[in-house]
Amino acid sequence: MVLVTYSYEAPVSQSLYDRAAAVTPGGVNSPVRAFQAVGGTPRFMVSGAGPYLMDADGREYVDLVCSWGPMILGHSHPEVIAAVQAAVSRGTSFGTPGEDEVALAEEIVDRIDPVEQVRLVSSGTEATMSAIRLARGFTGRAKVVKFAGCYHGHVDALLASAGSGVATFGLPDTPGVTGAQAAETIVLPYNDLDAVRAAFAAQPDGIACVITEASPGNMGVVPPKPGFNEQLKEICRAHGALFISDEVMTGFRVSKQGWYGIDQVAPDLMTFGKVMGGGFPAAAFGGRRDVMERLAPAGPVYQAGTLSGNPVATAAGIAQLRLLDDAAYAAVDSASEQLRRAVTEALDKAGVAHRLQVAGNMFSVFFTGEPVTDYEGARAQEAFRFKAFFHSMLEQGVYLPPSAFESWFVSTAHDDGALERVAEALPAAARAAAEATA
Ligand SMILES: *Cc1c(COP(=O)(O)O)cnc(C)c1O
Repeated sequence: MVLVTYSYEAPVSQSLYDRAAAVTPGGVNSPVRAFQAVGGTPRFMVSGAGPYLMDADGREYVDLVCSWGPMILGHSHPEVIAAVQAAVSRGTSFGTPGEDEVALAEEIVDRIDPVEQVRLVSSGTEATMSAIRLARGFTGRAKVVKFAGCYHGHVDALLASAGSGVATFGLPDTPGVTGAQAAETIVLPYNDLDAVRAAFAAQPDGIACVITEASPGNMGVVPPKPGFNEQLKEICRAHGALFISDEVMTGFRVSKQGWYGIDQVAPDLMTFGKVMGGGFPAAAFGGRRDVMERLAPAGPVYQAGTLSGNPVATAAGIAQLRLLDDAAYAAVDSASEQLRRAVTEALDKAGVAHRLQVAGNMFSVFFTGEPVTDYEGARAQEAFRFKAFFHSMLEQGVYLPPSAFESWFVSTAHDDGALERVAEALPAAARAAAEATA
């Protein structure tokens, strides 16, 4: 038996982590950063440039997390940084309307056909929370349908069987969410239309909305089966419920129009975050004008935010979105494809059973021989192999998401040099995965 000790030293990160653990629960401000699923010392990063991150011990990594998606132009993109510096020099928050908020809203409405109006917020969590409230206010109904393994931020009503950190830690639910809140949430298996039809048959007038990740990336990448989103929309329409597509991860990442650009299914409401903030806290929800106009102050459904539409965040978002033209998406797609080819080749060569699942330029590796179509399938993988794979990559200077249940992300900055470094690290990591024991 091989005893995996992860001997690679990171003394500065370790001392920062010790300091952090004294003053912050678990030493981190978002659970998956703590490396609990893979073990070892979380790396404290000090800077990023293009496809690279530098940690506090002076080691450089090819970054395949990209801040969980937002850094689609790579780190420290000069034009985004310049836009931010210019905005900062004018002041950082006014608590009044400003032109950049309008420009960012126009950019979103121009790109995404189903979005007629949009409201800016500061996180994806706020976006989904507000969209759900609006759907309930609009329909006068209480129940929300969500899918197991889909993550919509840490909204109380949406944490049941959620993906992302909840999947990483195998939490069935979380203390602090009341029975009453959970009771309004109907959790169904992903990609299962019969279950959706049965839920509506049981509650024909009770369901306010169905919320789904446009293409899930928070249980690993598990794309919708052909026609799934379209049928969801039809079922919602037939029952007077709203269809909410959560594009916080996929929006402005997998195409100019996000996942909507790929499957063309127009939701009633959509949520955005990650890429649209250019690395700052900016997110949004939007959709049908008649629904959005129910929001205060136009309508009665309350929603607000001290820092909503913050001038620095909106400047970063506009700069990033304007740089994301067809050529930029072609570059991200091509980097993703090159990387996928290298991963498949290395794992095949090492004889590791795996499925590489793809949604646009997002992908992840499941250590299983079976196709993964839902959360149950995702959890059935041999996650212990990922642990060994992850640490081998880390030691060789490649920073993967520290969980087997997350998408990998690349950027326009992932050039041949960066991709070659990953390719060189893969064979040893694939062997480590092959040799790993539970
Ligand atoms: C990241 C994410 C969220 C939550 O966004 P935060 O900005 O972390 O609150 C919501 N939905 C999806 C699909 C996400 O990937």
